[in-house]
Amino acid sequence: MNWQTLIREIPDFPQPGILFRDITPLLANGEAYRQAINTLADFARELKAELIVGPEARGYVVGAPLAFALEAGFVPVRKKGKLPGQTISVQYGLEYGKDVLEIHKDAILPGQRVVVADDLLATGGTMSATMNLVEKLGGNVVGAAFLIELSELRGREKLGNLDVYTLVQY
Ligand code: 5GP
Repeated sequence: MNWQTLIREIPDFPQPGILFRDITPLLANGEAYRQAINTLADFARELKAELIVGPEARGYVVGAPLAFALEAGFVPVRKKGKLPGQTISVQYGLEYGKDVLEIHKDAILPGQRVVVADDLLATGGTMSATMNLVEKLGGNVVGAAFLIELSELRGREKLGNLDVYTLVQY
C-alpha cells in the first residue's frame, strides 16, 4: 500500500506554519483503513495487549478498531471535563499549545498489558501524557502504535524504551 498518497498535506492548519497530515483520505478508503489497522493489530498481538488506550479524538479512530481486531477492550482518554465518572488527570504540552487529559479512575486493572494508540506521533507529548495516566492506574504499557510518525520531532525519544510501531514516517 502506498500510504503517503492517502495522507493529505494541509498547510497552515490549525495554525500558520504547521503542515497538517490529514488522515481522512486513508480512513475513507476501506481497504487501506483495514490494512492499516490489521498491521497495527499484528504489532499489538505480539505484545499480548489486553487493552488499547487512545486519546481523543483521532486516537479513537485508530484505537477502537484496533481493540476490536484484537478482541481486547478499549479505554478512552479525554480532554478535561468530558468523562462522566471519577477521573485522574495530567497536564501536557502539545506541538501547538497546552491541555489536560483524563481517564476514568477504575478503567485499568493493575498489571494489565496496555498498548496505547493514536493517529500521529509528533513531539510525543500527547502519548507520554496518555502513558502517564495508564501508569498512574498501575497499568503496564507494553507498546505504542501510530499511523504516522513525524521523525524530526523526536517523539520516540520521549517515549523512552517503549516498543513503538509507526506505519508511515516523515
Ligand atoms: P504530539 O503530542 O506528539 O506533539 O502530537 C500528536 C497529537 O497531535 C496527536 O493526538 C495527533 O492527533 C495531533 N496532531 C498533531 N499534528 C498532527 C498532524 O499533522 N496530523 C494529525 N492527523 N494529527 C496531528
